[in-house]
Amino acid sequence: MSTNAKRRKMRVLFASSEAVPFAKTGGLGDVAGSLPRALKHAGAKAAVILPKYSTIPQEYQDRMKHVADFYVPLAWRNDYCGIEKLTLQGLDFYFVDNESYFKRDSLYGYFDDGERFAFFAKAVCEAIARVPELECDVLHCNDWQTALCPVFLREFYREVPACNNVKCVFTVHNVKFQGQYGDKMLQDVLGVDDIPAARDQLRCDADSINFMKGALCYSDWLTTVSPSYACELQMPFFGEGLDGIFRRRSNILSGILNGIDQGIWNPATDSMIPRNFSPKDMSGKAECKRALQEELGLAQDPTRPLVVSIGRLTNQKGLGLVRYAMDGLMARGVQVAVLGTGDADQEEAFSYFSNKYGNQMCARIAFDNALSHRMYAGGDLLLMPSEFEPCGLSQMIAMRYGTLPVVRETGGLRDSVQPYNKFTGEGTGFSFANMNADEMADTLLGACEIFWTDQKAWSQLQQQAMAADFSWRRAANDYMDIYHRLHPEIIRYNKRRDR
Ligand code: ADP
Repeated sequence: MSTNAKRRKMRVLFASSEAVPFAKTGGLGDVAGSLPRALKHAGAKAAVILPKYSTIPQEYQDRMKHVADFYVPLAWRNDYCGIEKLTLQGLDFYFVDNESYFKRDSLYGYFDDGERFAFFAKAVCEAIARVPELECDVLHCNDWQTALCPVFLREFYREVPACNNVKCVFTVHNVKFQGQYGDKMLQDVLGVDDIPAARDQLRCDADSINFMKGALCYSDWLTTVSPSYACELQMPFFGEGLDGIFRRRSNILSGILNGIDQGIWNPATDSMIPRNFSPKDMSGKAECKRALQEELGLAQDPTRPLVVSIGRLTNQKGLGLVRYAMDGLMARGVQVAVLGTGDADQEEAFSYFSNKYGNQMCARIAFDNALSHRMYAGGDLLLMPSEFEPCGLSQMIAMRYGTLPVVRETGGLRDSVQPYNKFTGEGTGFSFANMNADEMADTLLGACEIFWTDQKAWSQLQQQAMAADFSWRRAANDYMDIYHRLHPEIIRYNKRRDR
């Protein structure tokens, strides 16, 4: 043991633009709400920091305590920043308060998003420098909204005692969203125009900058949310212009499959579904299906396979294939239920099918968490033919409820769904390789064939899917390994190897 070895908990500050139950638009919110808690169980001292949006439910806002306030320097301005704190089920959440940036109707989609999240990133650095309880060994940043933290920390806070030994881990949840803005921001907002390294690493072409590129260059370690996506990011098709950097830094790039909160997503205890069930007693699932068919205006027929789809209605999710195959699926007597919001053309297309096929197809254009629980519980199959999928949570949740996923073999879908092998009976779902509607329909109808003709194989697949381990414990241990690699002087406090 070296002389400066420290036997104490690794202090991890998890910076994210969303975290359940305060703010969520997608998988990032789920991850930031669950992973830090799992890190605590794995032996870290973890806390989360996120913006204090006015959309955070009032009950939580009422319980926040004021911890500190100061001014954050952003180029030529100094903006007010309050730090509020709320401890929820033993985990500390800190909120960056600035009404001019975060008192809005939704999380993103504003003309000044670049400035808003540049402010957030700078506020996180300033908070680490000023608020003793936020001192950390690792600052774990997520996606473009926090991508400037590693840049600011290195360029502006190197000399600050609380900051000079902080290592930055950056996780890519989706490389499609990078935070690209005009290069005027370098001077006007970021204040790095006269720092050649920062200017060069942030610039992506003649007149624009890219927040995520900055994080990829400045961070001490890079991760993404599945092993397959870590490989895919290094290819031009998936890398969205950043594949060269991922290749260059592949020695510090890890793919760690996300988990799901198995306390929230548990059919045996879920209070949002009409009847609970478990691998030992699946009888409640039939009632969940019947109730869902009734709720969605579908024929209440147990012999019809009910295919559900829950997620953002965007091109990423491969919905073009579903649209193309819809008439054929309807002709075979399959029921389809879609829950999601997103691109106008996708919303319109699924509403059209809903009108056309009355009691066989239903589209709910909404973000409805309670309905999503009932759909995961009541469906027979979950369809997810994504063009790319960094990790994907819906397929893991579905498996937990014995709803078998039909997925395209990409990213986290490939890493989490074991395709059915009719010779051995192994598998937790079904998969296909190409972005081809006929291939998808064949795979889906092949799954329906088993549903119709081989009850024993179907039940076995459900059992195997429900037994799959998607807990956060495995992922948390992998992240802890990375943190300790970056801080070898901190002796592992509570090394759990029970994966
Ligand atoms: P992404 O992060 O690409 O949106 P994921 O599958 O990783 O996709 O995570 C999506 C999460 O958001 C899941 O928990 C899913 O249940 C939830 N979700 C997505 N759309 C809706 C919706 N319309 N209503 C309720 N929950 C939704």
